[in-house]
Amino acid sequence: HWDRICSRLKIEVGEVEYRTWLQQITLGGIEEDELTLYLPTRFLRDWVRSQYNSKLNQLWNSELSQIRRVELALTIPSANSEDSPTKTEVTQENHIASPSNRANKDSTQPIQERSVPITDNKEDEGSKLPLQTQLDPRFTFDNFIVGKPNEFAYACSRRVAERPSSPGFNPLFLYGGVGLGKTHLMHAIGFELAQAGNISVSYMSAEKFMYRFIASIRSQSTIEFKEELRSVDVLMIDDLQFLIGKDNTQEEFFHTFNALIDAGRQIIVSADKSPSDLSGLEDRLRTRLGCGMVADIHATTYELRISILEAKAASAKVVISPKVLEFLAHKITTNVRELEGALNRLIAHANLFGRPITLEATQEVLHDILKSHERRVTIEEIQRKVSEHCNIRQTDMTSARRARAVARPRQIAMYLAKQLTSRSLPEIGRKFGNRDHTTVMHAISRISELIEKDSAFAEDVELLRRMLES
Ligand code: ADP
Ligand code: MG
Repeated sequence: HWDRICSRLKIEVGEVEYRTWLQQITLGGIEEDELTLYLPTRFLRDWVRSQYNSKLNQLWNSELSQIRRVELALTIPSANSEDSPTKTEVTQENHIASPSNRANKDSTQPIQERSVPITDNKEDEGSKLPLQTQLDPRFTFDNFIVGKPNEFAYACSRRVAERPSSPGFNPLFLYGGVGLGKTHLMHAIGFELAQAGNISVSYMSAEKFMYRFIASIRSQSTIEFKEELRSVDVLMIDDLQFLIGKDNTQEEFFHTFNALIDAGRQIIVSADKSPSDLSGLEDRLRTRLGCGMVADIHATTYELRISILEAKAASAKVVISPKVLEFLAHKITTNVRELEGALNRLIAHANLFGRPITLEATQEVLHDILKSHERRVTIEEIQRKVSEHCNIRQTDMTSARRARAVARPRQIAMYLAKQLTSRSLPEIGRKFGNRDHTTVMHAISRISELIEKDSAFAEDVELLRRMLES
């Protein structure tokens, strides 16, 4: 039930909204006619309650008529919150499919090429909609912030949008990690071309390509499928890595690809790796994919993250203090999608309360997101960095030597271990050559004292901390 409800929510509210607000929900238990859902922060709970309460009630009721009320509650912090910040205690009596790790659900399960059930043909209708409706209107060139990591891919995309099928730019192969703007650029190209008029553009994910291909085999309309694809001026296939291991679909794509290129049509492909690194794709396909222009999008830099945040806040007409934006750009370094998700939440918060958001409020509102982005430093890493920095052997971190030259760095490492990890004092003691927790306590108070008294020493410790955190 839960899975079905999640998919329906995703469809009804849209992927972005779902990710921002609803993805964090975990399932609680049912008691009589009441179902409990958990959210990790007060703000999220209140927001979901104010915005989605009736939707959730209605969906659950239609899924399980026994349920008349959906209760939203705060996640009970589990004892082991370090590993699973949003894990929820689940009562034994609940009969709903296990709410187990929601995070795993997102990873695409390998799909057996032959056994895909094509039951609803809604999917199919979707792909026959006019191009405009398949493109996300927010993904334009104007809304794309250009910086060092993406300027090359951006320039190539613009070039292809201006003059499709130019020699040297066909195919255009865009690659880079998740959430760095590949889909955004493809849609932007699509918009430009569609605006230019009489050019037919087809955009689809590699996954959809496969579904449509298989569906066409089932309904014995492969010829129509092929003809339709071969009649477009521009074909865009997103996330090509999906075709790894799907040999029949790959073969079909290869033929489509050749037919289009030979006929002078433009092909644009995105993937998470470069053609040569997409091992698992057939060699002849990889070779041809690399024949045009290959452009990579690198991980974001701090500067780019700041520019993106500023632009998005400005377009939402919300003032967010530079301090808060800097904080976000420092903390959320993975990709633009996550950065956007965090910012959207802040914007909603600012709108809700009608006042600028403070750094403290940011930390509260984004508690769960920030938690998942914390870098987990290990005690071993701390020991290594501190030994290197203080010029002692790493083995001295655990040795019995008491000379100041090794005892002091050891104390610093213990102090940092307490600050940067969630290990308890006894656990830390054990990692430092089975020392007692009182030794760790003593080390922490000694280092704290020194930090108070000696500003040069304080700076040194601060530097170490920064190195470990970045
Ligand atoms: P990918 O396809 O590479 O996984 P997307 O194109 O879906 O990534 O981008 C994820 C989100 O981040 C989208 O909402 C997109 O608009 C946004 N985004 C990515 N890069 C930029 C950028 N340079 N400027 C503005 N928004 C961006
Ligand atoms: Mg994408």
